[in-house]
Amino acid sequence: MSTRQPYARPSIEMAHGSGGKRSRELTDELFLAHFGADGASPELARLDDQARFDLAPLLALGDRLALTTDSFVVTPLFFRGGDIGRLAVHGTVNDLAVGGALPRYLTCGFILEEGLATETLERVVVSMAAAAREAEVEIVAGDTKVVPRGAADGLFINTAGVGVVPAAYRLDPRSIQPGDSILLSGTIGDHGAAVVDARGELALEIEIESDSMALHRLTAAMLAASPRIRCMRDATRGGLATVLNEFALSAGRRLDLREEAIPVREGVSGVCELLGLDPLYLANEGKLVAVVPAADADAVLAAMRARPEGRDAACIGEVSAGRGPAVVLRTTFGAERRVGLLVGDQLPRIC
Ligand code: MG
Repeated sequence: MSTRQPYARPSIEMAHGSGGKRSRELTDELFLAHFGADGASPELARLDDQARFDLAPLLALGDRLALTTDSFVVTPLFFRGGDIGRLAVHGTVNDLAVGGALPRYLTCGFILEEGLATETLERVVVSMAAAAREAEVEIVAGDTKVVPRGAADGLFINTAGVGVVPAAYRLDPRSIQPGDSILLSGTIGDHGAAVVDARGELALEIEIESDSMALHRLTAAMLAASPRIRCMRDATRGGLATVLNEFALSAGRRLDLREEAIPVREGVSGVCELLGLDPLYLANEGKLVAVVPAADADAVLAAMRARPEGRDAACIGEVSAGRGPAVVLRTTFGAERRVGLLVGDQLPRIC
């Protein structure tokens, strides 16, 4: 945690987005004070129009670059277990990691609403800087825009990420084969339920925490256990059901799931029952699904369970020899239920 004085001006003004003196002040005294603290990012501190990095050390890690982008509009900005800043780092790190990439660099763009308390912005930036440090990724470039009161809701963040993919990894859902095992890294719905809880519309007795976390160390351990992993995806917006439907569509296969194998926390089930939500579709910010050749499933599962991010990992089903694309859930009562793609949005602005 930084010991420096908080940024002196109480709220964001239109002038903070002018590109002039007030913009520079915000960059130096707020963004650089945290993102560039203790020499964290010499690239960012250079304040040039672009970040530049040497290819040689990247080439030593792999043979392809991975590039991803994501925007974050979650409301409220803070919730148990995280905030929009942590989410922005973790979401982008995870989108790189599930492609087998080693995340290296992030950029961030902030859209700020006039009148936003700078204290709120600073809390988010401090949290984002800490998340990047923990994940060992460098925030190398950024941008700030200010829009008039009412034109945004406090603040929005866009991030982009660059990583390197080791030559041995060729993840692709089209490579899914009948008989493959479907692995899930832990409990589902924690993030979605935590945000619902933070909106304060329910008087919940059980405290639910978002699962927001970086998964790149988990994916590295999994790929070390089996470089033949067919594909991985983080189950964010749209939840587990959405990722599995995407896999089924890409591969043209039927995926069979066992309901009793899918871990759901008691508090999350409670929220779902109260609101008529299905945990299969609730957002996660620290969970991934992997499809793995059956012969490698035990080794990958053991590698997952050996790490805190995958402590509750489980094999939740198999790829069927039957007709696809389809995702079919065998319920605890023995019935079969088709799990389709979500129609509409069950919870807007969840990430
Ligand atoms: Mg993703």
